[in-house]
Amino acid sequence: MSAQAAAIGRPGEPYGARLVDRVLPQDKAESKLSESRELQKIRPFVDFVYDVEKIAVGAYSPIEGFMGSDAFRSVIEENKLPNGLPWTIPIVITVGDEEARLVREGEELAVLDWNGDVFATLEVEEVFRLPKEDFARGAYGTLDTNHPNVYDIFHSYGDTALAGRVNLIRRLNLPTVNYELSPRETRELFARMGWRNVVAYQCRNPPHTAHEYIQRVSLERSDVDGLFIQPVIGRLKKGDYKPGVIMEAYRAVVGAYYPRERVVLSSLSITMRYAGPKAALFYAIVRKNYGATHYIVGRDQAGVGKYYDPYACHRIFDQFDVGVVPLRYRETFYCRRCGSMATDKTCPHPEEEHISTSQTRMRELLKQGKELPAEILRPEVRRILSRPDVILE
Ligand SMILES: [Zn+2]
Repeated sequence: MSAQAAAIGRPGEPYGARLVDRVLPQDKAESKLSESRELQKIRPFVDFVYDVEKIAVGAYSPIEGFMGSDAFRSVIEENKLPNGLPWTIPIVITVGDEEARLVREGEELAVLDWNGDVFATLEVEEVFRLPKEDFARGAYGTLDTNHPNVYDIFHSYGDTALAGRVNLIRRLNLPTVNYELSPRETRELFARMGWRNVVAYQCRNPPHTAHEYIQRVSLERSDVDGLFIQPVIGRLKKGDYKPGVIMEAYRAVVGAYYPRERVVLSSLSITMRYAGPKAALFYAIVRKNYGATHYIVGRDQAGVGKYYDPYACHRIFDQFDVGVVPLRYRETFYCRRCGSMATDKTCPHPEEEHISTSQTRMRELLKQGKELPAEILRPEVRRILSRPDVILE
């Protein structure tokens, strides 16, 4: 094995070969909580609250805290961490001017969740001005604030970034807390199920049959033992399906159409990064930390609008090795002539024979109260999505 492969971590090992654990054991958590009364407090933007927890449980291994200015530069300019491992999305935390005035380097801060309760601390190693334009251009390739993440960089983030390690006092009270397994928990579960090779599936919408098709094709491989479905369900924007709805729809499909011993369903509560190829690589790294060996990449993964070439998310895996096997799929549709799901790799028929599985189109039909063909949406899912309160208005 090459030095680079060893540094990345062997198949199934965490990224960087060691799972970060910044979760305080019970006794230390209690004393830290009482100490925190004396600490300066910050109440960060919700995206950062999610990230504090994810850093602590090792989802972003080998990162142990929020990035400093050197790591930030290295990521946006060279797509790698200072230790040389590929990495494409900066992990930062910011505060507004008022809070920034009270923060000193070398100090420990108490971090509040969205209810205003302390759940973690941050050991501040560096305080720096966040280069917002460089961030937007470097990570998302645009300064256009119609892009949801770019909008947040300029309008929701503070101007001052704080770098340093986190200590988690307790897990977050998430709406889907029962589904929110940590990397340690999924790894234990995969081991108990006797899985050696696990394929991870990234999504952020309820499942239709095109999703199911590429999951099945992946699971059919002789070198894959189990399927790990992990929808990203962080902060909502208008028009998104609610987290509980996405999980309920997946549970319905997994329960009715998959062998119990072949699938693990879990949620990943972080803010969706719509960075196209760079986000695809980032999500693959995160899934390696959860124990995946293989990673499904569909068309236009983690894309938004027309900012990214729909297949750039495939090509980035030729450029960077992050220690998971990418399973790349072209656009999938139902073909009436084939009588099955297919792609242009497997179906020779004209487009008139195809039923599109576009998420936007399906939403429109559901909104109009129209029947969706069972070929593209399972009846169990259709029933759930036809309810009146499933989308954030
Ligand atoms: Zn066909």
